[in-house]
Amino acid sequence: MRRKIVAGNWKMNGSKDLVNSLVGQIRSELASLDNGVETVIIPPALYVGDVLSQAGAALTVGIQNVSCWDSGAYTGEISAVMARDAGCSVALVGHSERRQLFGETDEQVAVKVGKALASGLDAVICVGETLEEREAGKAEEVVSAQIRKAVADVSNGQWSQVVVAYEPVWAIGTGKTATADDAQAMHAAIRGVLKELGAPAEEITLLYGGSVKADNAAALFGQPDIDGGLIGGASLKAEDFVGICR
Ligand code: PGA
Repeated sequence: MRRKIVAGNWKMNGSKDLVNSLVGQIRSELASLDNGVETVIIPPALYVGDVLSQAGAALTVGIQNVSCWDSGAYTGEISAVMARDAGCSVALVGHSERRQLFGETDEQVAVKVGKALASGLDAVICVGETLEEREAGKAEEVVSAQIRKAVADVSNGQWSQVVVAYEPVWAIGTGKTATADDAQAMHAAIRGVLKELGAPAEEITLLYGGSVKADNAAALFGQPDIDGGLIGGASLKAEDFVGICR
């Protein structure tokens, strides 16, 4: 049985007030939900402690990015070791915003995956093609290459900490979602790549991300190779986020 995960990536949004109002509400509404979904909140790093103190046992907390280094003279960076020490269980790695806006390369993504896993965090590795790449018929090729590079150094004992999130760049924050069939096709391809790499592909949780809402989540998550979602905008409202988890 694969883990079913719904993770809310707050991106650079939120405040102490939002933490106080949103996390408690999500927690109490999820208390009655018994569908085996692991729910993860991924706030800006400064609020990890605040979210943890409101989260209780039902919610886990993650970090949106980790450094390529463990410690030292790297002003502004936060290491995976620190994220783990602060109580995070999960790290996003290689989100398309990191790749596109901050020039994060496949090589850096691979290093960050290694750091996350070594520190005991689960790594949610984000991959996805741009609209140009999809229109050029290269979506699978691009995603496959991103995965191969990202997991190149994952060792046999670490696969249980690996989650892959397929997030077509054109679907993120745009209100355009991949159709359930297109998303399923890509997820099946991703599982195929993982299998080729010798990973226990059938046991690895694969998430879809990109404009997931309460009203399209069921169709997407109902696909055989889609095990949950990575949620941006809709993770900032309890009703929307809980609706997706439901
Ligand atoms: P979105 O973002 O749900 O707002 O499209 C998804 C993501 O970037 O993880």
